[in-house]
Amino acid sequence: MRIVLLGAPGSGKGTQSQRLMQAEHIPQVSTGDLLRAAVARGTELGRKAKEAMDGGRLVADELVLGLIRERLAEPDARRGFILDGFPRNLAQAQALDRLLATLRQPLDAVVQLEVDYGELVRRISGRRTCADCGRVFNLFTCPEQLSENQLCPRTGAPHRLIQRPDDNEATVTERLRVYDEQTRPLIEFYRARGLLRTINAEGEVDEVTRRLEQALHAMGRPKAAKSVSGPGGKSRSPRRGGARQEAPRRAAKSASSVRRKPAATNRAASKGKPARRAPGRTGTGGRRSARRARR
Ligand code: ADP
Repeated sequence: MRIVLLGAPGSGKGTQSQRLMQAEHIPQVSTGDLLRAAVARGTELGRKAKEAMDGGRLVADELVLGLIRERLAEPDARRGFILDGFPRNLAQAQALDRLLATLRQPLDAVVQLEVDYGELVRRISGRRTCADCGRVFNLFTCPEQLSENQLCPRTGAPHRLIQRPDDNEATVTERLRVYDEQTRPLIEFYRARGLLRTINAEGEVDEVTRRLEQALHAMGRPKAAKSVSGPGGKSRSPRRGGARQEAPRRAAKSASSVRRKPAATNRAASKGKPARRAPGRTGTGGRRSARRARR
C-alpha cells in the first residue's frame, strides 16, 4: 500500500507512521527524518537544509525530491511505503505524481490527520525524541511511556530524550504558517483525485490508529492491522469522530480563522482560549461527503 499522511506539524504523522509501518511491514519515509540525518552527518545537502529547517521554512524542493527519489528506489519501498512530511507543497505533489507514474506505483490513499491548533502547539512543546532510535515521546500526552524501564532497542540503555531544535515557540509558529500556506492546498489536490480521507487525530493514540486503519480500509485496504485492537475492539461509525471523506470546502479558511469546537474535545476552549482550527481543517458537513461516506 502506498500512503501519504498529511497533517500539520504535531498532528501525529510520525507516531502513526511508525505504528502503521510495524503493522503493515512497509517503510515509513519521512523527509524530516531524512533531512535531520543529513544534517547530523554534515553532508552538503544537510548543510544546505539546516538553515531553512532551523527557521521553520521548507527546504528547497530539488533537495527534498532528490532524497525521495533515492529512497523510493530502495528495494524495501517496492511493497509500499508511508510518506510522512512529503509532499509539502503543490510542486512536490506534482513531482511525486510524475515519479510514481514512471514507477507504475500510484498512491492508494492520502489521509489527513486533523488536530485543533491549540492542541498542535501543546503537543509540539511536549515532544521529545530518542536521539538513538528516533522514537517519539510526549511529556504531556504519554508521561507513562517515559519510565526508565523502557529501554532503547538500539543501545539497550534508557532512551536518550532530546527536544528537536525546531520545536521552539517561534519556529513552531512559522511551521504552522508554512503548513497553512503551502501544504493545506494539497487537501484539495488529493480530494480532486479521489484519494483523500480525513480523520480526527485528537484523543488516544490507539484510537487515532484505529481511525486511520478504518480510513485505509475504506479506501480498499483488505485487512485491518493487528496492532490496533483496543478495548472492546469495536469499530466506530466513520461519521462519528472517525474517518470520513472530506467535505467539499465551501469557503477558503486560513490558519488564523477562529472556530470553536465542542467543549468536550477542545482543550483550548476549556481553558477559555479561542480554539484555532488546525491549518487545513474544513467543515464536516455537506451532502457530497455524506454521499461519499455511504459508498
Ligand atoms: P513537522 O511535520 O513536525 O514540521 P518534519 O520532521 O516533517 O516535522 O520536518 C521538519 C523540517 O524539515 C520542516 O520544518 C522543513 O524545514 C523540513 N522538511 C521536511 N519535509 C520537507 C519537505 N517535504 N519539503 C521541504 N522541507 C521539508
